[in-house]
Amino acid sequence: MRVLITGYEAAPFFKRGGLGDVLGSLPKVLWKIGIDARVVIPYYEEIREKYQSKKIGTFSVIFGKNIERIGIYKSYFPKNSKVPIYFLENKNLAVINTRGRNKKIDQFAFFDLCVAHFVLWSLTDGKWMPDLLHCNDWHTGLIPLILRKELKLSIPTLLTIHNLSYQGRGSIKVLDLLHVQDKDVKELKRGTPATEINILGEGILHTDAVSTVSPTYAREVVENSDHDPIHTFLLKRQKERGAKDEVFGILNGIDYEVWDPRHDGFLKEWYGLSDFRLGKAKNKAYLLSHLGLKNKPTFCFIGRMAHQKGLDTLMKVLPEIISLDVNIIFLGAGEKTVEASVIRAAGQYPSLIRAEFSYNERLAHHLYAGCDFILIPSHFEPCGLIQMIGMRYGTLPIASETGGLKDTIINGKNGFLFENGNKRQLLQTVTKALRVYKNSKAYTAMVRSAMETNFSWDKSALQYQALYEKIVVDYDHYGF
Ligand code: ADP
Repeated sequence: MRVLITGYEAAPFFKRGGLGDVLGSLPKVLWKIGIDARVVIPYYEEIREKYQSKKIGTFSVIFGKNIERIGIYKSYFPKNSKVPIYFLENKNLAVINTRGRNKKIDQFAFFDLCVAHFVLWSLTDGKWMPDLLHCNDWHTGLIPLILRKELKLSIPTLLTIHNLSYQGRGSIKVLDLLHVQDKDVKELKRGTPATEINILGEGILHTDAVSTVSPTYAREVVENSDHDPIHTFLLKRQKERGAKDEVFGILNGIDYEVWDPRHDGFLKEWYGLSDFRLGKAKNKAYLLSHLGLKNKPTFCFIGRMAHQKGLDTLMKVLPEIISLDVNIIFLGAGEKTVEASVIRAAGQYPSLIRAEFSYNERLAHHLYAGCDFILIPSHFEPCGLIQMIGMRYGTLPIASETGGLKDTIINGKNGFLFENGNKRQLLQTVTKALRVYKNSKAYTAMVRSAMETNFSWDKSALQYQALYEKIVVDYDHYGF
């Protein structure tokens, strides 16, 4: 089977969050089980500067009134992997447009148009025709529609939702740029003037199958969407396709080539299950001295500073947590109001809190290895990778009981769970975790259990294979 996977990021070439991890690791594990999986993403300037690739072709698209020429570059995932990645090059794809939501929507609509034409190019000039196109998140939501309605290309698609809170809602003017007719779009929000398109929603209606990144989040998407704009789209999809149509939930794994304390190139000291006490202590000593912190139980937070990540809950009990005489290190970037709350806290406790507001891969690795606990107070978490990485490095997660966190953490065995949004429970759980920390036998048992938990992609890769096969068979059979 041949599968083309697309999204806006893929590690290590370009990564800003968990989607980048997934697009960087899933194709490699699919190859191991015999699937010819390839990836296509934009050719950002950052990639051009850091990685070698070879130009293998060009094609043109019409976007608005302009004819745009697209360069196709090919490279391979590092570490001797044979997995190809294609980069689509055009000035409109060089950097992510952050000036307003409609600009971003236009940019990714353009990317979607390019990916659809790339499939066409692949079939003709590239001599490689995917059996299925795997789209990821709203950034790729218009591809199924463009493929079918504009290019009349018959290829089944899967749309995976990594995060429902980003839907690509914006002006329907984007349709003019794509030369898509209103009648081809299923659910435009009309008003005076006619206004909005929901790109993820259109993706849900036009794709052959929808999945998300954990079984619990799949249930949450279906059951809790009543107050979400996506509800209309899910209902309409079910009406069109019947009650048997479901949102599949396949848990992400982590890339053991990247996330392994036994071989992690960023670390001062490698360690595994047998010597984690010593290994973590050395990494911790390095981390704390580097940051000018004293040796105390150390907690970290790693992630996008978005409301989703629940820092508001943490901030409400931060003084009480700090009074337990612990260090807390924050690493993340994002919403300015969330960052401001962390800056305030760091200013109040300069000897116990450190915060870095950037994307810093190196520091992230040092935190996973050198901290004792990782705080994950997310309000919702479709899958979450940081808890899995933390556990792999023997850093116990203290996380809210939601989505993928619930699916991956066994409370009291390999981490701690508390009720979502409940600040008192968060404080109690931190207190409990510190009690365990001081009890060498109990702590060792928990860390061992965390490090032993299997977060490899093996099982999920087989589930994706089964889903891809089902989609292709259904597509041939029903011709959706
Ligand atoms: P999400 O996809 O919602 O951003 P995940 O937990 O699924 O969250 O994945 C986050 C990924 O991004 C992890 O690999 C984490 O280490 C990484 N990450 C997040 N923020 C940063 C940062 N500021 N610096 C370095 N890595 C980060």
